[in-house]
Amino acid sequence: MLYFYYGVMGSSKTAQLLMKRYNYRQLGLKVALVKPAVDTRAGARVVFSRVGLKAEAELVVGPGHSIREQLLWLAAQNAHSDYQYVFIDEAQFLSERQVEELAEMSDRLDIFCYGLKTDFRGQFFPGSTALLRLAEVIEEVPGGLCWCGKKATMNTRVDQQGRVIKEGEQVLIDNQTAIRYIGLCYEHWRKGISHG
Ligand SMILES: [Zn+2]
Repeated sequence: MLYFYYGVMGSSKTAQLLMKRYNYRQLGLKVALVKPAVDTRAGARVVFSRVGLKAEAELVVGPGHSIREQLLWLAAQNAHSDYQYVFIDEAQFLSERQVEELAEMSDRLDIFCYGLKTDFRGQFFPGSTALLRLAEVIEEVPGGLCWCGKKATMNTRVDQQGRVIKEGEQVLIDNQTAIRYIGLCYEHWRKGISHG
């Protein structure tokens, strides 16, 4: 089955992923952790959660890469036939073709994708669009809060002064630029108010 767990910035998606992966590994199941190459915030292979959990990805995939072929290669390197469970962090950065490939693979294994639904403009990412089309289980990871205490639903790009940015390229990773991302409620995202 293909699963899509989506949540806003600060909803502890990655922590949820890492805890679930830990439980599967404890049972001795064959688990792969995958991340798209575009996300380099915490180092190329590291999957990092704001609450402090982190792990090293078995596989880092570029947008043109076949995840199926790379997993088969990796399984062969580790002398077993194939993985049983695949966890993917920052799944919004997958390409449409990669998600379609995951959907085909999910006949015979469980693939858990965690990511954002929309970008800082409120537009879908290609990976999340495809996951919303094709995932058999779609669930929200709750817990993200706006500064006002309401549920955060909108990913927001802010500059160093805390000003809300509504225009620009879809993907700007925050360790390369003077920006950061926060979750806001719909009202405060729409009005562009990032703090009280
Ligand atoms: Zn708010």
